[in-house]
Amino acid sequence: MDDNNIMPVSMDDTFKFSCSKNVACFNECCKDVNQFLTPYDILRIKNRLGISSGLFLERYATQHTGPESGLPVITLKTDHAAELKCPFVTPSGCSVYEDRPSSCRTYPLVRVASRSRKTGKIAEQYMLLKEPHCLGLNQGQIWTVKEWIENQGIAIYNEMNDMLMEIISLKNRLIPGPLDIKSRHIFHMACYDLDTFKSHIFEKGILDSLNPGSDTLNIVKNDDVALLKLGLKWVKETLNRI
Ligand code: SF4
Ligand code: SF4
Repeated sequence: MDDNNIMPVSMDDTFKFSCSKNVACFNECCKDVNQFLTPYDILRIKNRLGISSGLFLERYATQHTGPESGLPVITLKTDHAAELKCPFVTPSGCSVYEDRPSSCRTYPLVRVASRSRKTGKIAEQYMLLKEPHCLGLNQGQIWTVKEWIENQGIAIYNEMNDMLMEIISLKNRLIPGPLDIKSRHIFHMACYDLDTFKSHIFEKGILDSLNPGSDTLNIVKNDDVALLKLGLKWVKETLNRI
């Protein structure tokens, strides 16, 4: 039986929450993990670790293809010999804390977002998730939902994840079945394997037909967020051309 309790909350609703090394459940939530990674999650963590996206995917991610959508799905590789622990949890906590994925930083809230087909606007709803193992709830500081979102630096994650959602809804609208291999490869590289994407831009000229302009190219050389935005634009154009 699922003992979790999840309820919708508005921006001004409050909840009590404090997580620290002093709670008896410290690190409990970092095992038995089934963590999906968004392109922006990967960008942040691979830059924090100082490794390429390719190496990140090889070392820390499990990759598969959604059977119905044909879209790549990336999850964190967990330690099967140790209670499916996240690869980044250490005895003193999360080793990538400042760059942890969006769902970890949003917890104990969960964001549910949807995009209107008519207007293209994103509607979001936050939920408060009460899991029996989490002893941080109902203790310590009182937060409004709005304060929590600001304090945890969630806005940039939402912005980037919403851009991905737009592409996925476009894909589902234009191509309801599985993506072909070539488009899947483009989607995977531009969203999840940014360093390969960058080298293909500068060494193979893969974006020449998009004519991104020298200013944009100069920016994406050193700015991964701009690179990801360019990648999402490329995927969008590719889908529109199919
Ligand atoms: S990324 Fe950090 S906070 Fe998230 S599950 Fe892993 S160790 Fe825990
Ligand atoms: S279970 Fe809750 S209180 Fe315990 S470490 Fe995780 S988030 Fe913090």
